[in-house]
Amino acid sequence: MIFKTGRDFALELDREDSLSRFRESFFIPKHTDGTESIYLCGNSLGLQPRQTKAYLNQELDDWARLGVEGHFHAANPWMPYHEILTETTAHVVGAKAHEVVIMNTLTTNLHLMMVSFYQPKGKRTKIIIEADAFPSDRYAVASQVQFHGYDDKEHLIEWTPRAGEHTPRIEDLEKLLKEQGDSIALIMVGAVNYYTGQFFDLKKIASIGHAAGAMVGFDCAHGAGNVDLELHDSGADFAVWCTYKYMNSGPGSLGGCFVHERHANNSDLPRFTGWWGHNKDTRFKMRDDFEPIYGAEGWQLSNPPILSMVAIRASLDLFAQAGFKNLREKSIQL
Ligand SMILES: *Cc1c(COP(=O)(O)O)cnc(C)c1O
Repeated sequence: MIFKTGRDFALELDREDSLSRFRESFFIPKHTDGTESIYLCGNSLGLQPRQTKAYLNQELDDWARLGVEGHFHAANPWMPYHEILTETTAHVVGAKAHEVVIMNTLTTNLHLMMVSFYQPKGKRTKIIIEADAFPSDRYAVASQVQFHGYDDKEHLIEWTPRAGEHTPRIEDLEKLLKEQGDSIALIMVGAVNYYTGQFFDLKKIASIGHAAGAMVGFDCAHGAGNVDLELHDSGADFAVWCTYKYMNSGPGSLGGCFVHERHANNSDLPRFTGWWGHNKDTRFKMRDDFEPIYGAEGWQLSNPPILSMVAIRASLDLFAQAGFKNLREKSIQL
């Protein structure tokens, strides 16, 4: 494409844009003078899809009509409801179906993942995070370090930009690992930094992190639904994200979690457990021994809030119609 400045060229691109019809699928907030806003706040809270209300009403009606029987007899039975979200979620973040699950909220999932993937031992006790990490991530990581009895001032290592620069360089992470690699237990960075928009090379970070003997996890709050994360191919051990930003699922909605398939059955990993992570065939036999579901679902704790999942489903159905690849192509073009 030969880029031209000017309104005519922009209008021409609009006419050729196969995705422009999806604008009609969302409620766009209006200014006080009644004109539609140009909404650039999807990084904080995505817009409401017009179909969300109908999806919600379906479950409210089924609950009214069926009560507890809705778990099995609702139009979309609530028992396996989270499974309806699996395929589309996996597609958006570039993972295999059994590597993802929608559960809890972002910071909660980050903690649960660190329970499994931050195992300080001997000399290997530190965590690397990127400078200007989102405060919640920093608090979570620091509190995990403290929980294991270490001082976070010494045990949190920041991957920082060089003087006069604003974004950290991968060479400097490599240098950090060369110098202190044997003391690093975990690298946990935002896949897309919330502050600068820097999209890190996830595959590279995972590969140099693993070569140094560390676990590697990503917070994809600003990546999920926005960029090609290719989580499976990245090789990361885990990733977490929220769905209310680029994935338009409503304020405070549930988060997502990725566990690489190499850990799907890894009984060496400690984890915090709950009944929703137990083998589905025997869950209701109410046994005392815990038997985790294969893959990310094995990290679930509670039966999930269906009304929040409904809103995620309404949005993911739009992603599926639009095609994530097309969305990303358009974002790069923009
Ligand atoms: C938005 C965001 C959060 C927010 O966490 P919640 O647990 O959903 O409140 C955390 N970390 C990052 C990187 C974020 O962008």
